[in-house]
Amino acid sequence: ASKASGRMRCTWFHLDFDIRREATRKLEADLATALREGELQVEYQPLVDAKDNKIVAVEALVRWPQPDGTQISPSVFIPIAEECGLIEHLGDWVLEQACTQALDWTDITLSVNVSPAQLRDPGFAVRLGHILERTGFPPERLELEVTETYLVGDPTVAGRSLDLIRRFGVGVALDDFGTGYASIGFLRKFSFEKLKLDRSLMVEAANDEGSRTMMVSTIAVARALNMDVTAEGVETADQADLARAAGCDQIQGWLYYKAIPANEIKQLLAGSGVNERDESEVGNGHV
Ligand code: C2E
Ligand code: MG
Ligand code: MG
Ligand code: MG
Repeated sequence: ASKASGRMRCTWFHLDFDIRREATRKLEADLATALREGELQVEYQPLVDAKDNKIVAVEALVRWPQPDGTQISPSVFIPIAEECGLIEHLGDWVLEQACTQALDWTDITLSVNVSPAQLRDPGFAVRLGHILERTGFPPERLELEVTETYLVGDPTVAGRSLDLIRRFGVGVALDDFGTGYASIGFLRKFSFEKLKLDRSLMVEAANDEGSRTMMVSTIAVARALNMDVTAEGVETADQADLARAAGCDQIQGWLYYKAIPANEIKQLLAGSGVNERDESEVGNGHV
């Protein structure tokens, strides 16, 4: 009996594996189609100044709406795009779309996420230069968000990409700090313009004294190294107070704004008093 059930399990395993591989292949094909047919969209999440809650930047976040009205999360399809080689095209498209849409949102910074695979691509920086040229987007208003994992693989190529990006005058932010292995020493070595503290860090700091102390010292070091610090994923007023008290420069999170389409950003920036939002309005905003 045990032999039979062993074989059963084995069969199940293979079946499961095939189904999973099949599903991934279907996602790859669908994503390629979506890209070709122009079904992807870019939304923008505002970042506010920690001192006065004014919008100072937006982060571009790619969206893939499904026919049934649901969304597939970029944390699902970006890794797939990286694996099947679609990331080059997808990443370039996001950059060009964001630089075009954000062109007349003067005074605010545009942040775009770039994945490790994009940075390891030796042609990336050259294509970025072309996108800046074609769109006329001012490089000093653009910032690329990278994660520490860009150093996995070939750190020389990634490092060279970063150097070239900086030569355009484009800023580099270290995203999701606190989720991986990156340490304070890492910050010193790779002089980023901005440090983004991951949501998990904000949640921990709000709940635990030790984490709070770590966060406060990290922010102090980052600021001493001339980096701007953004608190990500701020959902509660407590977390926002903490971020401000700890010296964060910007706050990003659903407490203030969710990611919204370009036309709504335009309205926000043009419309009544967005840049006059004050403390009393926090939480009654767009969310
Ligand atoms: P990320 O760069 O760390 O972006 C922040 C994520 O946190 C976004 O999820 C955003 O919608 C979400 N978020 C913002 N505020 C809050 C909050 O208060 N609470 C919670 N729970 N979440 C919040 P999203 O849009 O699903 O993106 C997930 C990840 O996918 C991004 O993480 C980024 O790593 C990647 N990604 C998104 N767009 C792109 C893109 O255009 N290119 C590349 N290479 N990666 C992208
Ligand atoms: Mg990001
Ligand atoms: Mg992040
Ligand atoms: Mg994050």
